Amino acid sequence: MEGFDVNRLLRESVRKLQPYSSARDEYVSDGSEMIFLDANENPFDNGVNRYPDPYQRSLKSVLSEQKGLTEQQILLGNGSDEVLDLIYRAFCEPNQDNIITLPPTYGMYKVLAGINAVENREVLLTKDFEPNVTEILKVADSNSKLLFICSPNNPTGNAFQKKGIKELLESFNGLVVVDEAYIDFSNDESWVSELKQYPNLIVTQTLSKAYGLAGIRLGICYASDEIIGILNKIKPPYNVNQLTQQRALQRVLHQDLVKQEVKQILDEREELIKALKDLEFVTALYPTDANFILAKVDDANKRYQQLLEKQVVVRNRSTQPLCENTLRFTVGTPEENKKLIAILKELN
Ligand SMILES: *Cc1c(COP(=O)(O)O)cnc(C)c1O
Repeated sequence: MEGFDVNRLLRESVRKLQPYSSARDEYVSDGSEMIFLDANENPFDNGVNRYPDPYQRSLKSVLSEQKGLTEQQILLGNGSDEVLDLIYRAFCEPNQDNIITLPPTYGMYKVLAGINAVENREVLLTKDFEPNVTEILKVADSNSKLLFICSPNNPTGNAFQKKGIKELLESFNGLVVVDEAYIDFSNDESWVSELKQYPNLIVTQTLSKAYGLAGIRLGICYASDEIIGILNKIKPPYNVNQLTQQRALQRVLHQDLVKQEVKQILDEREELIKALKDLEFVTALYPTDANFILAKVDDANKRYQQLLEKQVVVRNRSTQPLCENTLRFTVGTPEENKKLIAILKELN
């Protein structure tokens, strides 16, 4: 990856931008007792009367240590969805540039392309749900700024083989975004460890899945400090609120708890797989490296409705390419899974 220049991919307007400088940018507290009269806040302390740290330094300091990166290689956002949107806005010129996505995959890439007026070029996964490297490189042109690789992939569940992703990192001329929302359920190593090797790599993660914090909205982006610097320039100043920063910090400091829950979810997943295999109307189960299972059934609409009537909500993925008659089951608590299995056994 010699000679890679991220500025070649950057939008002109972003390159020229003079970012907003907030009160908390101009004066950074060193912890000493100061009188803060610079941000028009209400001075009476209620725990959240002050603006939050715009760069979330406490949280980043823990994450950087855990991931073996510098704090300058981390951007935090209001969920991955904000992080992904920032990546579009930094690199994709509306009505000119394009991105490449690999359906069946996470729906937000396409929605964000629509919102940002960026063409979405879709290259279907192969029959065994792997990226079609040859075809991807064929549809890419000089306006292809981003390639979204979701691994483990939602909704199929599988982590992609390293070889294909490596080939894409080495041959695709834009930025490769590897979405690792489900990485903590996988035995595969995170691509974070390859950031040094590939200056065109962006890895996104989230606290919404394995970390059990979907409600606080905390998405994470790991990349070169150059790319992170660009995203920092365009992010809303206080995009991660104080309460989220506090709860996220508590949680990332309790890796033991997270690991214990992940292990339990994985054990439960195996039980669920066994039970699903025994059902007559389940015609195929796909390999999963995530906290959900994609199953092919005889009639997805019918089974979906039957489950709804029993107060169980699963995801019908049948409208997705290569996913005809599939349902996606998230692994629940042991009690929930037991109920689900009992209900499934009763369906006819
Ligand atoms: C759930 C999920 C996310 C998480 O998005 P947040 O905005 O962080 O909650 C990201 N990517 C994929 C593929 C997901 O399935």
